[in-house]
Amino acid sequence: MGSFLRQWLETENWAYSLLFHAIDIGLVVGLAYMLLVIIGEKRTLWVVRGLIVLMVAAALSREIGLELLSFVLDKMVVGSAVAMAFIFQAEFRRFLEQLGRGDFLQLFQSSGEIAPKSDDVIDEIVDAVKELSQNRTGALLILETSRPIDERDFSVPGVRINAEVSKELIQTIFQTTTLLHDGALLIRDSRIVAASVILPISERNASRQLGTRHRAAMGITERVEQCLCIVVSEETGSISMAERGVLNRPLTSSKLRELLRSRFSRMGDREVVSPQLRSLWQRAISGSVSSASYMTHFLVSFFQKDKR
Ligand code: ATP
Ligand code: MG
Repeated sequence: MGSFLRQWLETENWAYSLLFHAIDIGLVVGLAYMLLVIIGEKRTLWVVRGLIVLMVAAALSREIGLELLSFVLDKMVVGSAVAMAFIFQAEFRRFLEQLGRGDFLQLFQSSGEIAPKSDDVIDEIVDAVKELSQNRTGALLILETSRPIDERDFSVPGVRINAEVSKELIQTIFQTTTLLHDGALLIRDSRIVAASVILPISERNASRQLGTRHRAAMGITERVEQCLCIVVSEETGSISMAERGVLNRPLTSSKLRELLRSRFSRMGDREVVSPQLRSLWQRAISGSVSSASYMTHFLVSFFQKDKR
């Protein structure tokens, strides 16, 4: 018989033991839920779900007493955790940075829902990018997809602008004769928040053709989940879009428009995940409440019986 069952039956005060195990399981379920909410992205979510399934299977097989299976599953859990540390390097780094800064609240917040952009704002941005590309004017734009980026994620926060997005303003800022053309333009909702923002450079191995502008786009999207970056190359006029540290290039302006519309519509990837998690959470809460009330009722009647 498994150690858990044996211990449970042997314990004199097994009601207490039951309560502590229920709390233990509840805390683990809560932690797993928080992890899934923090991640929010479908691809990562599947990997983490896979790891959680492996961990649960390993724990169960240990409790039941299937030693060889639990040994193999334990090794698989360790192997998968190490592989995940490689695959999700950027996410791990961000997690440890937030932990180090003490941003505990931010740690347990999901990256938030997509802040939709109207087609007009997207059109202004794409039209400006198209013109810049045709004139071979270098440009770098950061578009926030949900909650605002923490300024500490930038190497230099740049110069505040706070103006409505317009094709003319974007084009003007990137003219090499202006003081603000170096660095990136930060766009939040339909407003240009800042210009000349200096971004962290990605350390990933990338093609030698990619200079610091492209690496900066990769760097910020690697570090910050809630943004994407558009790059116009000064050398070739090519348009690229960076997301989660990956550069999608070269793009035509119509492809860019299509990508931005799909990213900033309410039907994004995240929206598919969130309702499922929300309903899972609601079910978990109602389940916990009913089990807690059942447990209290049971304990009260148990002790009343004992007194008699
Ligand atoms: P291009 O194809 O336009 O030449 P590139 O990827 O080859 O781009 P560089 O030639 O090194 O990159 O581009 C230099 C310009 O990129 C700088 O003048 C500056 O405006 C911008 N840039 C470089 N590093 C950063 C950074 N860390 N953050 C923001 N902008 C940067
Ligand atoms: Mg260059």
